[in-house]
Amino acid sequence: MEVILSKNAGFCYGVKRAVDMAVSVQEKYNKKIYTLGPLIHNNDVVSYLKTLNIFSIEIEDIESLKKNDIVIIRSHGIPLEIFNKLKQKEVITIDATCTYVSNIQQKVKKYYDSGYSILIVGDKNHPEVIGINGWCNNSAIITNDSDELQHLPRKICVVSQTTEKQSRWENVLEKVVKFSKEIVAFNTICSATGVRQKSAYDLSEDVDCMIVIGGKNSSNTTKLYEICTKNCRNTIHIENFKEIPLELLNNKNIKKIGVTAGASTPDWVINETINKLSNR
Ligand code: SF4
Repeated sequence: MEVILSKNAGFCYGVKRAVDMAVSVQEKYNKKIYTLGPLIHNNDVVSYLKTLNIFSIEIEDIESLKKNDIVIIRSHGIPLEIFNKLKQKEVITIDATCTYVSNIQQKVKKYYDSGYSILIVGDKNHPEVIGINGWCNNSAIITNDSDELQHLPRKICVVSQTTEKQSRWENVLEKVVKFSKEIVAFNTICSATGVRQKSAYDLSEDVDCMIVIGGKNSSNTTKLYEICTKNCRNTIHIENFKEIPLELLNNKNIKKIGVTAGASTPDWVINETINKLSNR
């Protein structure tokens, strides 16, 4: 069996930065550290961080934090009001918001303060989008389905969730051009997502089976899965090598397997999967 790893797969810049920051903050302070929500959408990494005394808490838990507790903001970022709350509580806040996401937050704040309505092309339940919306007083119109847009304000600033699909961004913009008169649009889809999606798309055209590795709760991994399924019906989504189905390992008709991984999947999880497949 030939196993081919997609050209671009695994940790992106922002996720790697957040994990590296968490590890170095622990080295510096050597005490219990909290992250607001799981640092990244990957259970294996979250379990690893627990061994380093780094634990995930929820927004509601901020109330019980004490002065000089340490909280890490994950790469998805948080709403402005949560930053302010942490400041009031006098906790040590380590901001690991991906710099690309901070850039969107700043743009949204700037244009909201100048009188623009904000439209975020993305999933309203995704933490990154919830965070961005918190920089325009939670007033944004949020959708990634152009059919949902029937009216729009005259003056509008459009940004995108970093992991959004280019095609959805284009469809929404077509609608915006019809309804709004004064438009500022920033295509803030992260290139890390685009290159992973393109490589996965190309590879999935050429293999008998495609394995997408990453958290089941990771939106960019789920999108890779959707993209690969279009070319290769025999696509599976696993979190780690333990989930590789036995039937796949025993299927002699599968000669070529493609492997890709979401931006929140660490190298060690990818390597374990490749080793398991190669050892078949
Ligand atoms: S996908 Fe892009 S925006 Fe999101 S964390 Fe990674 S580098 Fe940052």
